[in-house]
Amino acid sequence: MSGQTAQAVTENTVAASRDYEVIVIGAGVAGIYQIKRLADLGVKATVLEANGDLGGTWYNNRYPGARFDSESFTYGYSFSKELLDEWHWSEQYSPQPETLRYLNYVTEKFGLREYMQFGCRVSAMVFNENTDTWTVSLEDGRELTTHFVITAVGILSTPTLPKFEGMDSFKGTAFHPFYWPHEPFDLTGKRVAVIGTGATAIQFIPEIAKIASDLTVFQRRPNWAAPLNNGPISEEEMASIRARYDEIFATCDRTPGGFEHEPDRRGYHDVTPEERLELWDRLYASSGFAIWLRNFVEIFTDEEANEDFSAYVANRIRQRVNDPVVAEKLIPTDHGFGIQRVPLETNYFETYNRDNVELVDSAETPIQCITPTGLKTSDREFEFDVIIYATGFDSFTGAFDRIDIRGLGGRKLRDKWAAGPITYLGVMINDMPNFAMLAGPQTAATNFPRGAELAVNWTTELLEYMWANKLSRFNANEDAEQVWLEHVKEMYQGLLMRKAKSWITGYNSNIEGHEYGKTRYNIYTGGGPKYLRTLKQVTEKDYDGVTLS
Ligand code: NAP
Repeated sequence: MSGQTAQAVTENTVAASRDYEVIVIGAGVAGIYQIKRLADLGVKATVLEANGDLGGTWYNNRYPGARFDSESFTYGYSFSKELLDEWHWSEQYSPQPETLRYLNYVTEKFGLREYMQFGCRVSAMVFNENTDTWTVSLEDGRELTTHFVITAVGILSTPTLPKFEGMDSFKGTAFHPFYWPHEPFDLTGKRVAVIGTGATAIQFIPEIAKIASDLTVFQRRPNWAAPLNNGPISEEEMASIRARYDEIFATCDRTPGGFEHEPDRRGYHDVTPEERLELWDRLYASSGFAIWLRNFVEIFTDEEANEDFSAYVANRIRQRVNDPVVAEKLIPTDHGFGIQRVPLETNYFETYNRDNVELVDSAETPIQCITPTGLKTSDREFEFDVIIYATGFDSFTGAFDRIDIRGLGGRKLRDKWAAGPITYLGVMINDMPNFAMLAGPQTAATNFPRGAELAVNWTTELLEYMWANKLSRFNANEDAEQVWLEHVKEMYQGLLMRKAKSWITGYNSNIEGHEYGKTRYNIYTGGGPKYLRTLKQVTEKDYDGVTLS
């Protein structure tokens, strides 16, 4: 940052009567890096975090088995060589406690804690047209004013529960895994029910099965899952990773998903069945998202390729599950592999070979109600000590809907987004001036920190531009927003994913208006590199599509 810009920020900040120049909402991966950039600029800024401490998703999801599906060394921040040299990831796919330690380490190392306020849930935000500021109301009754608001509220931070009759009557312990108890919570010898079989449940089911006396899994629809193949990282391996960091991040920047995985570009139809099998055997034994992202690109676009690969994975499942009836129940029949976000697993399928584990098909025998001692399905009554509702999230827009956000003319964001998000570049919203989103809806769906760093850098550059040019307001133009929405929709069209019955397309059976078929265009599916090129073009054209005043 030039001395001149620094002076402009200071003058701007000092001259204003508002409480802050920038308020960041959320102290997770994105919020931590955003406040680092603002602290470096000397801007009067704070982070408001609803939780009791920092970490976002890694603060909340403390269930056993919670860990990265991204390679640990591609998940860490890339902005500090010193940090990269200091930190040792102990596993290829870091477990939640280590990730939370990492985020605390970063925060302490760069002195960021002093900028953070915890236990502060934002309830409302109103834009003041005369002063170009936002008034931010907190649930504790406080009101703060700020020039700019940057949200870092996460994409899966609003858990949703089913609406079964009798849920309040249950006398045991029941919760969503997002709220896994912070105090030691021992399931040893307990009778446990799990409702839902998404990526979350698929991570914790094998862990709980080891200690519960009985584990009953209620599955409405199976998910395609594949082996994580995790392992430790030795000192020597970590040294070689450190030496490769520049190359690692360069590869992440160049690949659509922000990983080291690059698709096999030979062409599914151009190779023999034997060559396909050779690749798939190799991928099934590989770790992380290789099976998804190093596969033929046609897996994502071509029904035949997708069906063929799905049949391959189905056979792998049959080989791992002893009871053929159970195996068939674990194989999805309503969608192909990789159309929904692929959960990665460790001994998930073998868990169903245990005597203390039962799979109940909730499509065949639906849950009818929760009782004081357990639950009733259409044909049986069960008794449990613990019920875990691993029933997903109000993805992307849920965290925004919890805040009463009113922009120009008192227009409410909730109303604007009732049928799905509408944004400009996934960063701004027309009529919501001086408001930017990090990893908001309609940004590129990538390895989370890779996209978050990009968003923080772009947003910070925009603010620096505003300060340097003594500008007071940015507002995305309505027509630019419409063009972006159409582009986002268009990018879905070539992908089989457009049919997904998943949070990516906004499906959630527990929220009215989120029924299957009412697609919500939640992500930009054009990939990180294309997305970054678009952002750069906008900057180069002095923020094309944005009115600056
Ligand atoms: P999810 O994928 O949305 O799965 C929710 C599950 O609950 C589904 O099996 C769903 O069944 C079931 N369900 C919902 N409501 C139900 C009801 N009323 N009755 C019966 N079943 C019901 O949620 P998630 O597992 O929490 O995962 C969400 C996302 O979080 C993942 O896709 C992933 O991106 C992220 N995640 C990441 C990691 C990681 O990075 N390591 C780990 C965990 C999660 P239906 O399919 O029939 O609706």
